[in-house]
Amino acid sequence: RGGAAEKEIPFAKPGSLTRVYAVASGKGGVGKSSVTANLAAALAEQGLKVGVVDADIYGFSIPRMLGVEHKPTQVDEMILPPISHDVKVISIGMFVPGNQPVVWRGPMLHRALQQFLADVFWGDLDVLLLDLPPGTGDIAISVAQLIPGAEILVVTTPQQAAAEVAERAGAIAVQTHQRVAGVIENMSWLELPDGSRQEIFGAGGGQTVADSLTRSIGAPVPLLGQIPLDTTLRVGADQGMPVVLGEPTSPAAVALRGIAREL
Ligand code: ADP
Repeated sequence: RGGAAEKEIPFAKPGSLTRVYAVASGKGGVGKSSVTANLAAALAEQGLKVGVVDADIYGFSIPRMLGVEHKPTQVDEMILPPISHDVKVISIGMFVPGNQPVVWRGPMLHRALQQFLADVFWGDLDVLLLDLPPGTGDIAISVAQLIPGAEILVVTTPQQAAAEVAERAGAIAVQTHQRVAGVIENMSWLELPDGSRQEIFGAGGGQTVADSLTRSIGAPVPLLGQIPLDTTLRVGADQGMPVVLGEPTSPAAVALRGIAREL
């Protein structure tokens, strides 16, 4: 480890005022990164000081979604994170040359996460969001070890098959004694021009996950909200302008802002 003493993680200190949320999902493609990026932007718009760690090694889509244009810079021993839409962002993708696929082993990921938390100059944050890779892998355990007070947000689609894997991602909290702050259902329906809702991926997945985690954890896990399918969300992500800022009255933005107010 280079001999240097490991720096402290400020968010792990007793009395830290930063709320840390690890955003988890059972599988990829359910909108976990989109939710993370938009919650971050919405919380920053509320006036909170917000940081995001993109630890999704397979996706690392957060910088694009938040329109981050700069690389981190280094000052002495610290890394200064780029800021976009008032959100400080560090992504594993910023340290990967080109778009090379990288094979990450558990210990490497743990070390990278440790550095993102300890060596980045975050300042006094109100909220830190961690975008985890999908699944129930090592990184969720790493988060629990590095920041025992981190709470988990579970993202799922309404589909029952997706809900089952999301449940497993949330159930890891039972082992790690972490609090599950709630479940977010994404892609819940498509609003048709006549105002009716088409449930493209079925219905009930978010509530199923919330109920089942409530039972296994033995503490209430709320369904924090349902986000509809919405073209403006996808377009905003592609353009680096989160929908909560760019199209604040769109159905997805209204739902996301509601969830941000509940955190
Ligand atoms: P994950 O992080 O779970 O892999 P992403 O956030 O990358 O998922 O989302 C996967 C794709 O679905 C992206 O192209 C994103 O723009 C799109 N998407 C996510 N949520 C919605 C939504 N509510 N409406 C429309 N498109 C969405």
